[in-house]
Amino acid sequence: RAAAPRKRLISDADLAGIFVTNPTRRIFGKTGPTKLDIAVYYAAVGDFMLPHILGRPVSLVRCPTVKPEDCFFQRHAFTGMPATMVSFETQNSDGEARSYIAVEDAKAYLALAQFGVVEFHIWGSHRQSIDKPDRAVFDLDPGEGIGWREVVEAAIHVRGELENFGLVPFVKTSGGKGIHVVVPVKKKIGWRQFHQACSEISTRIAATAPETFTTTMGAENRRKRIFIDFHRNARSHTAAAPYTLRRRPHMPASTPLEWNDLESIDAAEDLNYSSLPGLLAASGDPWADMDDFARELPAPAKAKK
Ligand code: ATP
Ligand code: MN
Ligand code: MN
Repeated sequence: RAAAPRKRLISDADLAGIFVTNPTRRIFGKTGPTKLDIAVYYAAVGDFMLPHILGRPVSLVRCPTVKPEDCFFQRHAFTGMPATMVSFETQNSDGEARSYIAVEDAKAYLALAQFGVVEFHIWGSHRQSIDKPDRAVFDLDPGEGIGWREVVEAAIHVRGELENFGLVPFVKTSGGKGIHVVVPVKKKIGWRQFHQACSEISTRIAATAPETFTTTMGAENRRKRIFIDFHRNARSHTAAAPYTLRRRPHMPASTPLEWNDLESIDAAEDLNYSSLPGLLAASGDPWADMDDFARELPAPAKAKK
């Protein structure tokens, strides 16, 4: 799959309008990048990142001080948020109407660095079709005693199994310890069926290599194994967005990769706020044409509405 030509979503006027106060403030950790570094990173990757987040409910991780423990998840509308940020109501997991937020243009996106936003997490659906998910995330979470090489091998195994189901998997680093295998899905079924289908797929994949995988939560089950976390695929749950930075040392990015390039990554943190913009400008977004590969998930055996 060749990367599609770069489409400009951020204009020169948008870039000229970037505004950050305290540009030299360290945003995460005493020696970490500054608020300006974060703003520059998101400006640089915006044309690649925006297609993946526009119109999806988003949760933002904001870091108001240099102390990592002060970072917090912002799921709802907030005071002073960019005027073009969209806030809308939908039910939370308890069925209560709550406000959620979405980024729907470049200006809102670029304005977020001023609010100390470091991470973007997204739903698997769009606001306008909120109950028809279109991205399945198989979040591979390595337990104690599993190294990066093993996670890479496991992701390649998961890829093959998903292809056996007729699906077209894409891969990104999580920016943390694991890997996310993401599948574009036709908008047809609701969240409960979607979650059930992802659960069954994960169970069947785990059964092909039970010494490597588990689908059971809990640290003890995960020891020396990789947990296939399919619970990202539930309504109001989020997963790290493509190209989001992570609030960790070196500030790595959750980086979409060509499958062929995955094995050449020695450490996920090599893909970070300072290295990724240059790499991406040269290679383009390996996920650019992802929507063209949307398929239906195999029907779950246990039917649920
Ligand atoms: P790693 O590779 O280290 O596992 P990850 O991004 O996959 O990195 P997980 O811990 O597996 O991290 O997944 C946690 C997910 O749950 C995050 O991607 C995020 O979207 C969501 N999440 C975690 N904490 C919160 C929170 N407080 N509020 C909302 N969503 C959260
Ligand atoms: Mn994970
Ligand atoms: Mn997880």
